[in-house]
This record gives sequence, C-alpha cells and structure tokens, in this order.
Amino acid sequence: MNSRNYHVMKFGGSCLRSADDMSNASRIISRYRYPVVIASAMNGVTQKLIELSEAEDAKKHRQLLEDIGKAHRNTITGLADTSVRIEASDELEAMLQALERSHSEWISGHEPWEKAYLLSFGERLSAVILKWYLRDMGLKSSNINSDELLFAEDDNVLNATVDEEISQVEIRNRIAFHSDMNEIPVVTGFFCCSLSGRTALLGRNSSDYTASMVAYSLPTYELVFWKDVPGLMTGDPKLVKESHVLKLLTYEQAGNYIVNGAKILHPRVIDIARKRDTTIRIKPFREPEAEGTLITGAIPSVEIS
Ligand code: ASP
Ligand code: MG
Repeated sequence: MNSRNYHVMKFGGSCLRSADDMSNASRIISRYRYPVVIASAMNGVTQKLIELSEAEDAKKHRQLLEDIGKAHRNTITGLADTSVRIEASDELEAMLQALERSHSEWISGHEPWEKAYLLSFGERLSAVILKWYLRDMGLKSSNINSDELLFAEDDNVLNATVDEEISQVEIRNRIAFHSDMNEIPVVTGFFCCSLSGRTALLGRNSSDYTASMVAYSLPTYELVFWKDVPGLMTGDPKLVKESHVLKLLTYEQAGNYIVNGAKILHPRVIDIARKRDTTIRIKPFREPEAEGTLITGAIPSVEIS
C-alpha cells in the first residue's frame, strides 16, 4: 500500500535544547500527514561526547557523563502523563547505562568503531525522548536506529558514505512497516551501518544527509528541515544588515549558496534531492508558521500575456 506521500522532517540539535523544545517539535510533527522524523543529538551533546572520547582523566569522564545524563533527564520532565514519564525514564536510564558501557569499551579498546558507537549516543538519546513526547500526545511512535536502516559502501566508521541503492530498499520496507501500524517513525540521524556491520558515523552535521537519504527512498511529498534560523539568507544577518530570507530557489541556486559558504544544509543534501526531484523546505523552528525557504527543481515562470 504505497499511495502515501511522506513528510520527511529533520530537527537540528539547536531545535532540541529543552523539554519545551521537545514538546514544540512533537506538536509540529502532529500537524503533518505521514511524518517521518529524523532527530539530531540535542544541542551540544555530540561535542560533549567528542570531549568524553578525548579526555584523559577519570574525573573529567565522570563530569561529562554526569552533564550528559542531567541534560537528558531534565528534558523528560515536561512529559505530562505520569506513566509515560516513568516508561521514558526507564528507557533513558537503560540508555545512559549503555552509554557508560560504550565509553568503557572505547577506553580499553581504542578501536575506531568503539568511538563511532560512543559518539552515536547523542542521536540515540534524543530520538528516544522525542518518541516519548509524541506518545505523551497520544500518538503512536517508534524509534528506528539508523544503523539498521542506512548501509555504507565502505568500512570508514568515522566518515562513511551511504550506499544509496542498498539503503533505499531497507528504508522503504521499514518505514512502510511502521506506517502500516499507524506509528510515527523517529529515526536517528548522523550514523549508519558499516560494510562489516558496525555503527559508522557520517561526519559532523550529517543528520541532514540522513534525512535526504530517507526522503530519496520514499514517495516523499516534502523534505522539511526545521532549523534555528529563518531560512536560507542572502548573507549572514550578523554581518550584513540588509540580508533577507530567500523564499524560492532552484537546486542549482541553493547549491551555489552552499558552495559559497552558507552552512544551512549539509553539502550532500541538494545532490540527493535533485536525483528524485524532492522538494526541500527549510522552516524556522521558533516561528513554524513562517514560510522559510523552498528549494525545487525549477521555479515556475510567470507567463506574460
Ligand atoms: N549530532 C551530529 C553533529 O553534531 C550530527 C548533526 O547534528 O547533524 O555533528
Ligand atoms: Mg549536532
């Protein structure tokens, strides 16, 4: 049954800072038909995990693990339903323990795939929390870890490239399975499965890349990036006073802005979207009714009669 047209939407870390943000994100998701959600790590968490992987002394390790635990525990306090909150807390505590185990393994083994697994916890944690916020609203939702969904064409566990042909089959099947059950899938960004079957990272800021691969694989109505900015701007508003949001762009025009330094989207997104003519929308998370930026294959020309 594939007459569905999905809204694939990605929430960046700067949109996931607090309990209020999680609750706003779930409200936004609830307004769409057939949403498929891609979650980044909560703001600053991947950076903290990198520090954790590099820190030398045990005191610093303890401190960072405590900070990460606290940030996520604080975020589930906004769940209204007591039984949902208890279940969310149980799952969160189990994941924080898994994070500690992964850290110990990295310290004793120092293998690159142990580091990749450790750094993947930011997305694993935020995706679980977002799922509980959706359930708290009475919606059905499940998590999909992206190392069960996206497959790399290499064994480069710290900077992998997705095999588009192989991944799209699994993505299509898994997402259809969840939609058949009326569940909103919340997928982790940032990582996939390496050729030898381990968690592999896709590079910094690559949850956009995950989202574009998911959109590529499905009948997608729109690929929506929820960001902490108003849209793709003509310049950096901190530096150029008269910079404004670009409302409508072709892939080519958007690609040029990105090549010239606009950091709003991961550089691979436009190329992947272009292959299947996927419409991209960049929307401001803190002003969800605003138009943001629309990126499409061709801008319809106005006929002058
Ligand atoms: N959390 C990852 C990073 O900070 C991926 C992402 O945010 O897109 O690089
Ligand atoms: Mg991030």
